[in-house]
Amino acid sequence: TRSAAKDIGAILADIEAEVRAENDWGNVASYIPELADIRPNQFAMSVCTAAGETVSTGDAMTRFSIQSVSKVFTLALALGRHGDLLWRRVGKEPSGNPFNSIIQLEVENGTPRNPFVNAGAIVTTDAILEGRKPRDTLAEILRFIRSAAEDDDIWINDRVARSEERTGDRNYAIAHFLRSCGNLRGECALVLGTYFHHCAIEMTCVQLARAGRFLCSAFGDQRLIPTERVRSINALMMTCGHYDGSGEFAYRVGFPGKSGVGGGILAVVPNVASIAVWSPGLNDFGNSKQGTRALERLSERTGWSVFA
Ligand code: GLN
Repeated sequence: TRSAAKDIGAILADIEAEVRAENDWGNVASYIPELADIRPNQFAMSVCTAAGETVSTGDAMTRFSIQSVSKVFTLALALGRHGDLLWRRVGKEPSGNPFNSIIQLEVENGTPRNPFVNAGAIVTTDAILEGRKPRDTLAEILRFIRSAAEDDDIWINDRVARSEERTGDRNYAIAHFLRSCGNLRGECALVLGTYFHHCAIEMTCVQLARAGRFLCSAFGDQRLIPTERVRSINALMMTCGHYDGSGEFAYRVGFPGKSGVGGGILAVVPNVASIAVWSPGLNDFGNSKQGTRALERLSERTGWSVFA
């Protein structure tokens, strides 16, 4: 296993060199200054293997805003609390629309397509908030992530959360619409306050790859969630984790992943590896441009795929 880790280390170093040589970074998210001001030519990748090793390349100790990657953790918590009843409130189908799209909500009576588009994540946030205070719910989310990562040095960036709030009109529109359909129990401001804060969690690639181990049944912490739930979450990451770029991601990368507009992606090769990659420049779907390319290169080099 030591040599396996060395091999992965060499592969990661090659991938970083190729990414940097390509020098084609995409555009950073521009809707809040905290993301707009980030230098695009940054790259990091970390892989946690079943042997318990973490191998990294690049700026793997730099914290970034995990944004929609947090939707994986909130889904895990919502399923833990409500089980399959959650699926009465949110679907399991890819949306074919951008992450912040509203258009399907009216046609589909306020039932979001899946838990990874904003509308679906706002419903899952409401589901874990129910009967609790935002502060306690955020503490629960942080507790889950910290214990998955076995690292307590993981925090919410309040400035990012405040910027999200200030620019959150579209998410407010979604929340109000959901509530008008009876699919939001909490008050919009409380649910969105919680949502904006979990989007504003910051992690390094090393921390995110370690946190993702709970989705690798063979070596994840079984105490966090049962194996059948791992299967459900990975299936949704595969089909819905990259919004309207999910099909392309499945085709090119071949294993489940969840992206965020901060440029992070958490990817899982079931039973084999948990992978985090970060490069803040995005492609046209709002997914990390070089992060996606790097995962594609990693699957080519290792043969990792859920399809063959
Ligand atoms: N906070 C962002 C939003 O709600 C998250 C979107 C994302 O990462 N795709 O718009």
